[in-house]
Amino acid sequence: MDEAQLPLFPEPDGMGDGRALRDVEYIHTRAKKIINRVPEASRMPFRYTINAYRGCSHACTYCFARPTHTYLGMDAGTDFERRIVVKVNAVERLAAELRDPRWGGDHIAMGTNTDPYQPAEGRYRLTRGLIEALIAAGNEFSILTKSPMIMRDIDLLADAARAGLVRCNLSIGTLDTGTWHASEPGTPPPQRRVEAVGRLNAAGIPCGVLVAPVLPGISDSPEQLTEVVEACVEAGAVSISAILLHLRPGVREVFMPWLGEYRPDLVQRYGELYPSSYASPGARARLASQVDEIVDRAGGRAVPPSRTREAA
Ligand code: SF4
Repeated sequence: MDEAQLPLFPEPDGMGDGRALRDVEYIHTRAKKIINRVPEASRMPFRYTINAYRGCSHACTYCFARPTHTYLGMDAGTDFERRIVVKVNAVERLAAELRDPRWGGDHIAMGTNTDPYQPAEGRYRLTRGLIEALIAAGNEFSILTKSPMIMRDIDLLADAARAGLVRCNLSIGTLDTGTWHASEPGTPPPQRRVEAVGRLNAAGIPCGVLVAPVLPGISDSPEQLTEVVEACVEAGAVSISAILLHLRPGVREVFMPWLGEYRPDLVQRYGELYPSSYASPGARARLASQVDEIVDRAGGRAVPPSRTREAA
């Protein structure tokens, strides 16, 4: 790997809020393969993914992708947030793999293990190059992000939408400023993400919202859920669904110490709620029906989020 100590990358005008983490190190690597096949046993609703970056300086405390950094000999805590691996040849690899006669043209999901519009994208523009390659090949794809930087690529995404190739989702767990600040320290403000939902849909790019993750006792009050869902309905989200926090091994070790600092009163409750990675089916079903009701009342659509799920 070619290690690059680079200054904080500026985001395109109006696309961020200057809240990105400082002291982020970018490590260049050349990927041997860029289209990743999801293991058969996975519950993900897609079979292929692309991640041009590894690690994510959005630094969400609950990020389920954190343990992927340990495969690289780095840790799931600050290394995941501040040592970002950049696959500098991602675009050329993708073009080659899409040309390969063995490639079957399946849907490809972006935003599954790292945010494709994290601050690094402001400089490297790999996600933009990947979108261009996918459009050129006529290959369907989806994008999940927490960043309004996606609006930078609205021209390309509108082309892709006209060809029926793309579906986007913004991940907006809450509009509660305190929760956002504490739990997603490197992300742009959620209100800017709501604006992005509106802009994308207005440009003809179908964009839904994952209200995710909802944090028990922190962002799951009826008022908090109503606030975020109503804002997304008003922005024209084509689908809205909620996902309750899950805490897999490797993530729990980062999240629980954070919770102990932020809300020590909830530590015991989380221990009971999460004897394993997932909260009970009953708790998940209650959240889903609560959100569906709010969407109905607000006149929106609580359609499942199709192929875009998880990390970002
Ligand atoms: S949840 Fe998404 S945006 Fe947050 S750190 Fe993980 S990959 Fe990045």
